[in-house]
Formats: sequence, structure tokens, C-alpha cells
Amino acid sequence: MRAPVPTAKRTVYTDAMEIFHRAADLIGLDKRVRLELEEPDYEHIFYLTVKLKDRLVPLAPEKAKAFTDLAVTQVRDPGGLENLPNGQIILNGKALLGSDVNIRGGHLRLPSGGVFQLVPGESQRFKAYRVQHNQARGPYKGGIRYHKEVSLDLFKALAAEMTWKTAIAEIPFGGAKGGIQIDPRQYGREELQAVTLRFMYKLKGLVGPNIDIPAPDVNTNGEIMALMLRQFMDGERERHNLRGVVTGKDVRIGGSEGRTKATGQGVAYCIEDYFAEKGETLRGKTFTMQGFGNVGSNAADILAGMGARLLAVNDADGTIFNGDGIDVAALIAYVYENPKNLKKTVAGFPGAQKIEKNDLWDVKADMLVPAALGGEITGEIAERLKVKLVCEGANGPTTPEADRVLVKRGIDLIPDIIANSGGVTVSYYEWIQNKRMESWTEAEVNKKLEYAIKRNYRIIRDISRNTPRKTDMHDSRRYCIDKTTEPRAAAMILALRRIEAHYLLEGFSQ
Ligand code: NAD
Repeated sequence: MRAPVPTAKRTVYTDAMEIFHRAADLIGLDKRVRLELEEPDYEHIFYLTVKLKDRLVPLAPEKAKAFTDLAVTQVRDPGGLENLPNGQIILNGKALLGSDVNIRGGHLRLPSGGVFQLVPGESQRFKAYRVQHNQARGPYKGGIRYHKEVSLDLFKALAAEMTWKTAIAEIPFGGAKGGIQIDPRQYGREELQAVTLRFMYKLKGLVGPNIDIPAPDVNTNGEIMALMLRQFMDGERERHNLRGVVTGKDVRIGGSEGRTKATGQGVAYCIEDYFAEKGETLRGKTFTMQGFGNVGSNAADILAGMGARLLAVNDADGTIFNGDGIDVAALIAYVYENPKNLKKTVAGFPGAQKIEKNDLWDVKADMLVPAALGGEITGEIAERLKVKLVCEGANGPTTPEADRVLVKRGIDLIPDIIANSGGVTVSYYEWIQNKRMESWTEAEVNKKLEYAIKRNYRIIRDISRNTPRKTDMHDSRRYCIDKTTEPRAAAMILALRRIEAHYLLEGFSQ
């Protein structure tokens, strides 16, 4: 019997690379360059072991009945108790020391009335990744994601995407991505710090300001970058020269003004340019959004400042809608400045009504800004959308099938590799400032970012429409391919042409 011919398995990576292959075919990409780019340079997988803290785990009401007569434990230092979104409480420092502890069978009752089981902290192992996709144009560059659903396949796709994005943004970096398989909501602040320090301890041999430069991504931020920086610099003689090992740092320790909101700012610049070309502004335009984290909340804030109205938002914990427009400043305060909102979710926001996640896609608006995770807009959802434009704040939110549906339905697309390139562009500004020991104003940063992102977006539009031209701002003549193509392929063509030039002009080392 003959063995069946193996069929290529579809994965997140093969899906993500579909557009690479399409664009490579369209431009007749050099064969060897294609092989160099088809797979990453390096795929690192390693493990971190970290000692967790003691914690209080809430008992289910049924089980708590057995402790109705248990006296309340009076905690002397309530500041030592850290509430997690899952209802557990981490015991930081010496939270119970000096308190009147009433414990029975490992259980205690807090003044809130709840009965908890005291679970001693044990060591736990986490799986960590760093994929370094390509460095033809400069050091590897890409974010660090903490999420329960990550995989080598996903990080390969995201690392490749960084290679295309840095080329499109015209910055001298390659592409990388990495992170840890962890649900950060299950852990306390000090536990996450320990995980981060251990992560950088193991990563140290692989990264550096001229080798590979991490940055924030989903569930990581400036605080995490500060810890990574400290772990990398500790004990080094010329530590002041190493500040550029991570970007997205707090401005007080070498971060760039404008970096925190740079990705959202870039999204807004793209959308502004999209309408400007039609002779329109954002005043009175409406939008819906998925994800209200760093990218989503900043994009929403800036778009609202330009006069647009946010009608609906979905995040990991809920979906809200207000046909008259959601007050974005109030929503940001509700999500980020309300200590009771442990999940940092839009759910429960009083200025809007609750709807089902599934209903988000049916809201009629001028545009949709996906700013959460990849693969969310499927072919079926794309068939339902009632928007004229999708601007991808997230990485890879639209599946290849959905892409085809958007083209068929005449819904315009601003692809992720240009739309969300603002973050990595300002990361590059941060890296230069660190190298030069300078600090630029937010106005300087935004002016440079606006010029860079609009200039490259215009080149992509010209490639897409096959309108080669040179203006004061951009020159698309080198990149157009004598035929029209959809924007995602056009963006990839720009990236591949810029990367290919490095291989063809510099040659290959054997
Ligand atoms: P974040 O962690 O700050 O926010 C993520 C948001 O997505 C949260 O509001 C969360 O509730 C929501 N979310 C998570 N899972 C969801 C689900 N299943 N359904 C609906 N919503 C869900 O992350 P971020 O930094 O804003 O990144 C968001 C996206 O933008 C990611 O795809 C990331 O790769 C991409 N991106 C981020 C940057 C950056 O500078 N932070 C740059 C480029 C691209």
C-alpha cells in the first residue's frame, strides 16, 4: 500500500505566511532571499522556575459552611494582601505577622466574611520563547507577550511580522518576538516580577542593544521593561551603554516621550490620512473597537480627540455599546484609574449598555479598529461587518479567508504592518535617544512619527493602485509592480523589496 502524500498542515504560521508567498510571487522575489525569509533564523524555547508566594484561595460557599464558627482573622497590615482578579489573595511580605490569626485546618476567615484556604507557595515552571526571525536590516526587534495561549508557531508568525514591519517603517531593525506561557491574572505583582527577572536572566545571552531588543506587547508594559533592563544591566561595567536593550521603558529611565501611546497614535495617523485623501476629516465619523489595552485605549482617545465617536468596545471580559457615542476619557478612567476594576475591563461601564461579543460585529460604523488578539475576524465575521474600513491595531486580527471577504465586499483595509507600526517606530526613536544620551520632546517624536507613517502608507497605497510617483513626501516608483493589488500584498511588497535589497546589494556570507 502506498503511503498517503502528506498535506501541509495549516497553522497560525502558515496562515500568516500566505501573504508573504503571494507577494513574493508577485515580485519574483530572489529564490535565495525567499529561503532566508521563509523560516526564522533562531527559535529559542526555555523554561523558568519561580517560587510562588503563599496565597489565600476562596472556599466555595458550600464548603465554607463548615467554618461558620471560625473567628475572624484581624490582619494588622492589610497592605500585605494583594487581591487577584480570580478572587485569590496573595500574601506579600509578612502580611499575617503580628495579626490575630485564627486558623483551623489551614483555613481562615477575613474581616470581609469570606473563608479562605491558606495554600503555601510552591515552585512553578513556565515555558518561555524567543523567536529571532531575521536580522538582514539590523538587530532583531520585537515584543514580549505574557499570555496563557502562546506557542512556538504563534511567536514565529509574530516574529516574521516584525521583520516586515521594521522594513515598512524604514527602521534599521529585523524581526523577533517572544514571551512566556502564563496567565498573568493568576499571579501577584511580586510573582510576576520574579518571573520577569528569571526570564531576562535566561534571555541575557540572546539579547542586547545591538543584537535583539525586546519591547512591551500583550500583558507587558513599562514596568516589565524596567525589570528586564535592571536584570540585563546588573553587574555590567558600562551599564549606561546598555539602556537600549529594551524599549517601551518609562521616560524617567530612558524611555521616549510618546512611546506609550505611539501604536495608537500611528493607527490614528493612518486613519486620518485615509480620510484626508478623500478630502474628509474624522469629525463625526464613528468607530467600533476590539481590545481596550495599550493600543485600543490610546487609539480611541486620539481618534475621539480628532472628532470621531466610539460606538462599541469588546474586550476579554465584556462588550459595551452606546449609539450616541461612548465618552472615551470616562471609559479610560473607569478601566485604568478605578482600583476596584481588577480586570481592567470595559464591562460594567455605566456610560454604555452591555451587549454580546457576537453583536459587536453587527454595529454599523465608519470603521472597525481591532486592537486585541490575532485571528478574531474570521471569514464569517467579515461577511457581517457593517463598516467601510478596517484598520488593524492588533497583529494579525484578520484571517486570510476574512481578507478575501473584505476585498469581495469592498471594505477597505489598513493592514497591521503599517497601521500598528507606530510602536516600533518610536521604539527606534527611543533606541537612538539612548545611544546618543538624548531626550526628545513628545512634539518632536510625534512629528517624526507622523511623517514616517504617512509617507510609508502613501507608498503602500501607490503600490496597491499601481500609481508610481514622486512627491515631496514619498517616492513609490521603485516599488510599484505594473499592476494593482490589495493593500496587504502591497504592504508586503514594500517590505520584501526593502529586505531583498540588503541581500542583493550586500551579498550572502557563505
Ligand atoms: P494589552 O495587553 O494592553 O491589551 C489587550 C486588550 O485585548 C485588552 O483590552 C484585553 O481585554 C483584550 N483582549 C484580550 N483577549 C481578548 C479576547 N479574546 N477578546 C476580546 N478582547 C480581548 O495589549 P496591547 O499592547 O494593547 O496589544 C494589543 C494588540 O496590538 C496585540 O495584537 C499586539 O500584538 C498589538 N500591538 C501592540 C503594540 C504595542 O506597542 N503595545 C504594537 C504593535 C502591535
